Amino acid sequence: MKKNKKKQKPKSKEIVLKGIPASPGITIGTAHPLYDEKVVVLRKKIKENLVEEEMARFKKALSRTRQEILAIHKRIAKEMGVEKARIFGAHLMVLEDEVLISEVIAKLRRERLAIEYVFWEVLKKYMRILSKSDDEYLRERVSDINDVGRRILKNLLGTEQRSLEQLAEKTVVVAYDLSPSDTAVMHRGNVIAFATDIGARTSHTAIMAKSLEIPAVVGLETVTAKVKNGSNIIVDGNRGVVIVNPTPKTIRKYHAEKRRFEKFEKHLVKLKNLPAKTLDGKEVELAANIEMAADIPGVLAHGAKGIGLYRTEYFYMNRKDLPSEDEQYEDYRQVAEKIYPNSVIIRTLDLGGDKFLSQFEVPHDMNPFLGWRAIRFCLARPDIFKAQLSAILRASHHGKLKIMYPMISGVEELRQAHVILNEVKEDLNRRAVPFDKNIEVGAMIEVPSAALTSDVLAKESDFFSIGTNDLIQYALAVDRVNEKIAYLYEPAHPAVLRLIKIVIDNAHEGNIWAGMCGEMAGDAALTLILLGLGLDEFSVPPIMVPEIKRIIRAVNYEDVKKIASDALKLSTGAEVMEMAKANLRELVPDIASGVLR
Ligand code: PEP
Ligand code: MG
Repeated sequence: MKKNKKKQKPKSKEIVLKGIPASPGITIGTAHPLYDEKVVVLRKKIKENLVEEEMARFKKALSRTRQEILAIHKRIAKEMGVEKARIFGAHLMVLEDEVLISEVIAKLRRERLAIEYVFWEVLKKYMRILSKSDDEYLRERVSDINDVGRRILKNLLGTEQRSLEQLAEKTVVVAYDLSPSDTAVMHRGNVIAFATDIGARTSHTAIMAKSLEIPAVVGLETVTAKVKNGSNIIVDGNRGVVIVNPTPKTIRKYHAEKRRFEKFEKHLVKLKNLPAKTLDGKEVELAANIEMAADIPGVLAHGAKGIGLYRTEYFYMNRKDLPSEDEQYEDYRQVAEKIYPNSVIIRTLDLGGDKFLSQFEVPHDMNPFLGWRAIRFCLARPDIFKAQLSAILRASHHGKLKIMYPMISGVEELRQAHVILNEVKEDLNRRAVPFDKNIEVGAMIEVPSAALTSDVLAKESDFFSIGTNDLIQYALAVDRVNEKIAYLYEPAHPAVLRLIKIVIDNAHEGNIWAGMCGEMAGDAALTLILLGLGLDEFSVPPIMVPEIKRIIRAVNYEDVKKIASDALKLSTGAEVMEMAKANLRELVPDIASGVLR
């Protein structure tokens, strides 16, 4: 232990990590790394004189793991019987496996690499061999080895089992990744920032962080390997930087930066009750995206005009059963009433992609984003779809609700969804249940085939909302959650701008309105172009509302139309971005200096 303490010093050196900015703001706090099966174990060389120390750490981790397992074994045997506790007996056998332990020690002496890495490599080899065995008993030992191995690794790395329900106050959550179901159970208010190894700008960790109004940096690759439980950490969600063990000088610098940013945001909130109207009088709708009803205070505080996207998936997560129609009705009714007289667009269930719901046996597709998801799933499961539609229709009697279908790829899907909706309406009519007979029904345009046939879709929709998070990934063939290719995920790519123009023009041609609810709508650098293309509605995370409003209110519509048409003539996303930023600097310098990097 003493030796370990001595070693702490060099480890507390300041480490600066660059990732992808996912949610704005700055947090200076204490890291809480969540242990995860995909935790990154670095291949780190060690000096010869540290071999003994690494060995001692390993033995200590083994003994601690043994104590933990014995305690669990005792508790389970008492609470659930000896039979159920037998599995932990098998775990103890893995811990005491002489062959495995001596192989780890031999490899450590031979290769002189950090013990975590050596141990994990040996363990993976064992699991590989056993999983290919013809003997069923041996194959079954793989999961025991995996469980015990992770426990040992956790004790070596000093990380903790992930348990997002019981986080301490003011926690900076550091994880390999956070799934939507993880974030759904998290106690709001206790988490003050996220930092993750993987993920990109539109992955759900990023979307959730914005909805919680906390800074986040994703795609940091090795942050889980660089922090210990309790490390000081700075998360700069504006620039996409995370600093582990910051020096007092860095902390002072960031406190000043944090104060500057908070002042900037406070200044913008003054626009709360003003319309999103250009200097020459063109008004657009500026609405907010929400993930759950708990986000509503943020919508109201930031002055959004209604909700342009209510993602309903979280409602279905972390539960063994499906939400009943009544349960959904109560939720949608509450949201409708709180937002009234403004409207709420409820997006029907968008299962799939990176959002899997625990209660469905959905096969893991090879390409989940191209698979059985969203409207495809709902059309195949009319029972689930009808319950949601019926709940929305019933709630529409208590406010202004609109329905929006995700992932429409062509007019046939739209028609099939309409047929089901009409059946639900007929049923409600038969039972004399009141609902808004003129409820608007729109299509999300997030598949290139829908964008290209939006003239056809416009004839059978009341509105469009462009889902750029998906539209960009499909148009550019760039997985939206993969940090390795995040540099290719360009909202300003000419192909994306052209698709957006097609959709807006076709909507107007068909006398319907076109909005945008993807993250691009909240990207301040691109607001002038989107406004100039004629977008009628921007739906953005609540925290982005003030800055987008400030931009809209600072320009003339006639000027931004010219900016948009100039942007369409450029050849690359980088050129578009450069000109967009230059225009923002010139026309709205306060925003440009506050948000552009
Ligand atoms: C989108 O794809 O742009 C969108 C808003 O939907 P989601 O991010 O939930 O896929
Ligand atoms: Mg989408």
